[in-house]
Amino acid sequence: MSLSAAFNSLKSSNLISWKPTGKLQQTLAGCIELAGKTLHTGKVSKVKVWPGFAGEGRYFEFQSKLIPASIDFARESPLCTTLCKDGYKIRTVEHLLSALEAKGVDNCIIQIQSLDSEDSEVEVPIFDGSASAWIEAIEQVGRKVALDRCGNNAEKLAPYLNEPLHVLRNDSFIVGLPSSEVRITCGIDFPKVPAIGCQWFSSSFLDDSYEKHIASSRTFCIYEEVEHMRGAGLIKGGSLDNAIVCSVTKGWLNPPLRFHDEPCRHKVLDLIGDLSLFAQYGSQGFPVAHVVSFKGGHSLNADFIRRLSGINV
Ligand SMILES: [Zn+2]
Repeated sequence: MSLSAAFNSLKSSNLISWKPTGKLQQTLAGCIELAGKTLHTGKVSKVKVWPGFAGEGRYFEFQSKLIPASIDFARESPLCTTLCKDGYKIRTVEHLLSALEAKGVDNCIIQIQSLDSEDSEVEVPIFDGSASAWIEAIEQVGRKVALDRCGNNAEKLAPYLNEPLHVLRNDSFIVGLPSSEVRITCGIDFPKVPAIGCQWFSSSFLDDSYEKHIASSRTFCIYEEVEHMRGAGLIKGGSLDNAIVCSVTKGWLNPPLRFHDEPCRHKVLDLIGDLSLFAQYGSQGFPVAHVVSFKGGHSLNADFIRRLSGINV
């Protein structure tokens, strides 16, 4: 598909208008290569992120299959976001995608392989549970204007929300409100875990704001729920090195926290990664809107994007 044909297929609707950001689409100036242990399976995997062509967006390459980082391939899975195509699965994509979206790496090819097995599932390494390793790697290699296969640059478009939109599930919700710039507000509430309690955090989407306030916040879990999750075959690679762990009675088991409201900031990190799946043809994925999430999670985030796409959930 040519670039102009691609842009023409970005259909505005009552809900969304695709508008120029005033920026050109970008990609990486070189290749990133990182390997590490994964959270859910505990296996080691290696990721190489290569520069991509303008208009082609972000996609994974696994076992010679190409899987676009798009909501069309997102599947429900506990505790992480999974992309799935033709029986091949890539799990825990959200922290890498969050870093790429926030740093404006609009087009890239993400090659991933498991160093421990040849099976049809792979998982992105967890590192310290935050997006810091990806941000540092992107900073080191740098970014450049992306060119398409004919050597032309391309305008970066963004989806502007035209009217309020919400998704609800039990006592969780996400609301999108029209706004002239991206604003993100997340709330969490753990009344039975006093060290976490109720927290709110609000942020813009600017490069340095993400790096200063969001990127280094780590995944968190409740100690008393860990054994139950292990029993369900989850977080086999979980340790005190890749998550902050809070006990109902004893408080944080591996302090210090990087921010007093680190769990809530991590929800912002996840939300950016998940909503990046709305990106198309190298556009911004996160809607230009004030997005407010309360007790949200990966599956509600996916529902929100499906509603943005005009799909009833
Ligand atoms: Zn996360």
